[in-house]
Amino acid sequence: MSTKYIFVTGGVTSSLGKGIICASLGRLLTSRGLNVTIQKLDPYINVDPGTMNPYEHGEVYVTDDGAETDLDLGHYERFLDLPTSQQNNVTTGRIYYDVIMKERKGAYLGKTIQVVPHITDEIKSRVRNLGESGNYDVVIVEVGGTVGDIEGLPYIEAVRQMRYDVGRKNSLSIHLTLVPYLKAAGEVKTKPTQHSVKMLQESGLMPDILVCRAEVPLEDGIRRKIAQFCNVDVEDVIASLDAKSIYEVPLLMLQEGLDKRVIEKLDIPVTSEPNLDGWVKFVEAVRNPSAQVSIALVGKYVEHHDAYMSIVEAFIHAGAVNDAKVNIKWVQSENLTAENVGAHLGDVSGILVAPGFGGRGIEGKLAAVEFARVQNIPFFGICLGMQCAVIEFARNRCGMKGANSTEFDGATPYPVIDIMVEQKNIKNLGGTMRLGKYDCQLQEGTRALEAYAQVDISERHRHRYELNNNLRADLESCGLKVSGTNPDRGLVEIVEIPENRWFVGVQFHPELKSTVTKPHPLFTGFVKASLEHQAEG
Ligand code: GLN
Repeated sequence: MSTKYIFVTGGVTSSLGKGIICASLGRLLTSRGLNVTIQKLDPYINVDPGTMNPYEHGEVYVTDDGAETDLDLGHYERFLDLPTSQQNNVTTGRIYYDVIMKERKGAYLGKTIQVVPHITDEIKSRVRNLGESGNYDVVIVEVGGTVGDIEGLPYIEAVRQMRYDVGRKNSLSIHLTLVPYLKAAGEVKTKPTQHSVKMLQESGLMPDILVCRAEVPLEDGIRRKIAQFCNVDVEDVIASLDAKSIYEVPLLMLQEGLDKRVIEKLDIPVTSEPNLDGWVKFVEAVRNPSAQVSIALVGKYVEHHDAYMSIVEAFIHAGAVNDAKVNIKWVQSENLTAENVGAHLGDVSGILVAPGFGGRGIEGKLAAVEFARVQNIPFFGICLGMQCAVIEFARNRCGMKGANSTEFDGATPYPVIDIMVEQKNIKNLGGTMRLGKYDCQLQEGTRALEAYAQVDISERHRHRYELNNNLRADLESCGLKVSGTNPDRGLVEIVEIPENRWFVGVQFHPELKSTVTKPHPLFTGFVKASLEHQAEG
């Protein structure tokens, strides 16, 4: 079978959950035994989201190969349980960058470089290369933005051409749209969908399937009306009702027959029904937890939950394993002081200090670490959170007055966290951190080893600063345990305080590798410790 390409566009408004629909369809197709991947085409001019403010873009998702990508790739990995890579995220910035580089080399042999065909060819080759290099049965391509956006036009044109290039039987166009319910009129409205499809058709793209986001079930009459006005069969009008959790969406799409229609239309030779036993069990566990536990997430971007997307999802996975629901208490680190920290954190059973960049809110994070350490509340520090744990320990347990990271204080007498040597001369900000997967070796008798149950692990990174190995012995001599190091360079990857009930800081980002089928062991261990702490009162 040649690779099948499914293009998913969105209409009417943003935030309809295109990423979740793509991930859900991907889950259904993989559960039928197909080899599937998902690619995101982003219309912005940044080469990648790595340089964007988390308020602007939400979390930057890092892949094994060190690509800084859109957070939708996180959903793809969590739903499909398959790693993605740089190839899975294309941006307009990257496309233009590469086309311009080729032009400078003279690769276009004197031609005038134009959006059509040069930009569209570059887009198409990114899609085809992914499909062919991975030998995929199906590539789902999520076109970012909303139909009608000026910056999305080259992508729509590339999709239009690709449908011609690979043929009708090898490509499909799915359009995600909104069918709003107007309370005052007591009716659902199809007009925005009609307009959105018309706009897509003006660009030469005909949707084969419409996925309609709706608050209320779509009655047959409404489905027929949408079908008639939008030139699709009535079975190709798929309702996507608001779900309690994103993890229910694959099951809802299964009920609506989305995967079945896709398979029929693309002539994919599969006979088996999707095997979703494990998924259903997981959804049940999320729906009916036996216990609840409150965990604080201390960070400076807490007003924008998308900035911590993978952490939130990792808590859902780890909660399900522990038969519990994790209620996140969002705590703005800028508001925390040594005086008020008890009032903010006194009622939680676990404290997570989040990743981040820059000095804003640091003293609040340090107050949170100290509170967790002294009160013996389960603590999990991620990246900057781990660095804060080291700084707090240095100041308050090792007597290193004024200890800090050189990220915040270049003149600190105790630079317990310092910039990595290879980072010192880097001037550009984009794509220059220590990124992607690196090995880590765990020490015997540690929380980390207990959680992972294996000595050699590999995790994803995104940082410039690191525990200063010149001060490591001093930190260890007053009780900090280094429980994981990178075997190639001796960089410290995990620290613990052994006498505390569960106090772990990690330089990497474990949240990026937590999936429904493989919840992350450190999150699982942290939630378990928080439940135990809660039970002890
Ligand atoms: N700012 C810190 C560093 O660059 C931590 C980064 C992070 O939390 N991702 O090392």
